[in-house]
Amino acid sequence: MKQTRAFIPTLKEVPGDAQIVSHQLLLRAGLIRQVAAGIYTFLPLGKRVLEKIETIVREEHAAIDCVEMFMPVLHPKELWDQSGRWDVYGDELMRMKDRHGRDFAMGPTHEEVVTTVAKEYLNSYKKLPLSVYQIQTKFRDEQRPRFGLMRGREFIMKDAYSFHATDECLDEAYNGFVKAYNNIYARCGLDFRMIEADNGQMGGSGSAEFMAIADVGEDTIVYNEEGTFASNIEVHDLQVGDPSPDGVGVVKHAKGIELGHVFKLGTKYSESMGGFFLDENGEQKPYIMGCYGIGVSRIMMAALEQRNDENGIVWSKSLAPFDLHVIPVDVNNTEQLAAAEQVYADMKAAGFDVLIDDRDERAGVKFKDADLIGLPIRLTIGKGITEGMVEFKNRQTGESQDVALADLKDFVQAQYDALT
Ligand code: ATP
Ligand code: MG
Repeated sequence: MKQTRAFIPTLKEVPGDAQIVSHQLLLRAGLIRQVAAGIYTFLPLGKRVLEKIETIVREEHAAIDCVEMFMPVLHPKELWDQSGRWDVYGDELMRMKDRHGRDFAMGPTHEEVVTTVAKEYLNSYKKLPLSVYQIQTKFRDEQRPRFGLMRGREFIMKDAYSFHATDECLDEAYNGFVKAYNNIYARCGLDFRMIEADNGQMGGSGSAEFMAIADVGEDTIVYNEEGTFASNIEVHDLQVGDPSPDGVGVVKHAKGIELGHVFKLGTKYSESMGGFFLDENGEQKPYIMGCYGIGVSRIMMAALEQRNDENGIVWSKSLAPFDLHVIPVDVNNTEQLAAAEQVYADMKAAGFDVLIDDRDERAGVKFKDADLIGLPIRLTIGKGITEGMVEFKNRQTGESQDVALADLKDFVQAQYDALT
């Protein structure tokens, strides 16, 4: 991709309304722009990062036989009346009327819709278990939308739902999701922890949250250093130094960003919405459900909060919007430009996603933007090209060295493979 066509509006100044580093970087590196409080446009770079996250999510769901579908944003009020949530969900539920005056909710979560869809099909134990998911825009009229993608009013979530005949079967699926979630956050390059969560008003018998460790996090984690206990403070209201509930050591506090949530729902929705199946003895029973959410857009925020330095973003190679940044220092120097275009073509042919900074800008501006955008590898084509040399820079370690053009492809490949 040529940078002159890439629509990457970087900012020199730190935007005044962005209080935390990740939010500043989202704006400064040209990943997103705000449209209204808690409502954002993803610019091309941000969109590429989202797609990287979504691909990881899709691969890990395929690995546990969870199948993708796509449900509507608009939910007729009748469905929410059946579950009883139209009245209890409160002001966070975005509501609207159609031209005939009929009420709709804009989906903040999809238990009602998925149960309605599933119940027509799941009439026998032979059709269970089933796990489905979607990646979709969710709407929540949050009281305090803030911190960019951290707490939006419109945001992207992966939500999955599973249906079972027995508790044992639900446990098995739940454990599968826990494994998939661990893989997803690890592959996204995050420092995270799974903790015991509050069952809340959802009812049900067990739940866990996945937290990115970050000082700006809105959740408080209580944990012991021995690693045998970690929970949301909402579950165990413990002060620093209190004995750990499992008897091992004392507890500490840490701040976390909630990345995801796995939850054993039980039969709340199947019973209230008429989701029944016939078991092996011909007996009618409500199926047992689980639900599993990931804040897809919030992952981007957490990654930025954890992976940055004073010059900008330091992407993991798994989420970087491009793999390589090729920079001709002076695009008016025909030798430099021609060599850079050749490197660009060769690296693309080798399978890399490459961004070439073909802008007619000063070298200093280009290097600053490159550090800010934070692609894992930078290849600078400057004066050294007269001797056939290119400067290689690793954004993660900051190390740079000159490499001969003839060795460049193998060198970049080896360096790229060694990145995290
Ligand atoms: P929170 O306690 O942060 O409000 P929640 O318990 O309401 O989260 P869930 O309903 O479990 O969240 O939603 C699943 C995931 O969606 C969360 O783990 C989080 O990563 C993400 N998420 C929830 N609300 C928002 C939001 N307003 N903006 C961005 N992501 C969100
Ligand atoms: Mg919430």
